[in-house]
Amino acid sequence: MLDETIIPIGRFAPSPTGPLHFGSLLAAVGSYCLARKDGGRWLLRIEDLDTPRVVAGAADEIMRTLESLALFWDGEVVWQSRRTERYAAVLARLDEKGLVFGCACSRKEILASAPHAGEEGPVYPGTCRGGLAPGRRARAWRLRVPSSQVCLTDGVFGPVNQCLADEVGDFVLRRADGLFAYQLAVVVDDADAGVTQVVRGQDLLSSTPRQIYLQECLNFPHPHYIHLPLAMAADGQKICKRHGAVAVVDDDGGDLLWQVLRFLGQAVPGVLRGAPPAEVLDWGVRHFDLAAVPKRSRVLDPLRGN
Ligand code: GLU
Repeated sequence: MLDETIIPIGRFAPSPTGPLHFGSLLAAVGSYCLARKDGGRWLLRIEDLDTPRVVAGAADEIMRTLESLALFWDGEVVWQSRRTERYAAVLARLDEKGLVFGCACSRKEILASAPHAGEEGPVYPGTCRGGLAPGRRARAWRLRVPSSQVCLTDGVFGPVNQCLADEVGDFVLRRADGLFAYQLAVVVDDADAGVTQVVRGQDLLSSTPRQIYLQECLNFPHPHYIHLPLAMAADGQKICKRHGAVAVVDDDGGDLLWQVLRFLGQAVPGVLRGAPPAEVLDWGVRHFDLAAVPKRSRVLDPLRGN
């Protein structure tokens, strides 16, 4: 009998900025196998909050691709674009606690006065933290961050420590264009859906301390984080949509899933290479070994399946 209290709730949260690509498929397959392995649920959330980047029809295409690969999700799809009232309510709650402040700075001003650039760009210099200068108007809303360390243990990368004040600075929760920021939405969505296991690309590892700190501010539980190595294109860039989409898969879905599992260090047998997607995936669910996932991002070699 499975213990309901420890059954993981995983999720896949693609941004519909184009068709699914090999890089996002790594997150889909990894999160699916790890959730299903322990009899857990696997949810789908379409991160269509950043409307200027959304491509019409991409969400539908992503869903059809997932289905063609036998990656079937549980329950209703969550659309971030339909949840702005909820994000606004959470922002108001943080504001009541005195944790947010309005910021008048433009990008240019921040760049000019940032003490140094962190991994994610210039560290916010704290200009509006103590209130807006006379005549200035709030454009964005930021969260005050502490100077203590935020610590987590990632399922692949192990211990991670980050001092938000030094490495990121007070970060944006609502952007100058009025849109809610990814960091706020992801924390609210994962908590509301009861997500206990977040599996995604390593490019988001440096965002995780921000998300953990936000969870602390909101008394939300912390999910377990597992970041996967990235697939790089031959030019050394992270694989993204412009390097080749997966799109809807007809006959080679099993081969693609086989390559994904191999890329993630899994010893999927060669005989499964041409098998139907459901069979390859079933192997992944039964055998997925987190300890075998390599830490290093690598160039994708589709012929060797890495
Ligand atoms: N929407 C993000 C992406 O497509 C993933 C966010 C997450 O998994 O937290 O890269």
